[in-house]
Amino acid sequence: MNSLRETFLEELADVYDAEKQLVKALPKMAKAAEHDDLREGFEEHLEQTEEHVTRLEQVFEKMGSKAKSKRCKGMQGLIEEGQERIKEDAGDAALICAAQKVEHYEIAAYGSLKSWATLLEEQDVAVLLDETLEEEKETDEKLTNAAESMINVEESKDEDEPGKRKAA
Ligand code: FE
Repeated sequence: MNSLRETFLEELADVYDAEKQLVKALPKMAKAAEHDDLREGFEEHLEQTEEHVTRLEQVFEKMGSKAKSKRCKGMQGLIEEGQERIKEDAGDAALICAAQKVEHYEIAAYGSLKSWATLLEEQDVAVLLDETLEEEKETDEKLTNAAESMINVEESKDEDEPGKRKAA
């Protein structure tokens, strides 16, 4: 059985890869967004995500380990689904849903990592992980708000063809 420290480092390598995958995917999400607010939101989160990568490198360093990536299949799957929605031209509501699935996945990973850092008595590491965790939660809330305002927009806009998105 792995020690908690080993489990922590394994999971860290997984989320490090996940964040790097997201750095590549977010510009595509931004490009596909119809509404300016949503596009700007994705662009803002891209900057944060780059910061998350850097923060994870700091965590590796504090743990006395080299930064290591392990292919994160969970994030890969979530991003693939997001790309499918883009290809299908499914619209902003579908993009928001894909993005929220990503945020929830990250919140789960950072929540565990933060708890483990505390158990391992790595307070500096716990603080770094918490900063990212809070940013992921904020992003999730912004996406919830975007989803709700979008539904209102669609309802008032699409009176002729309910449920059908209009071309840009
Ligand atoms: Fe992140």
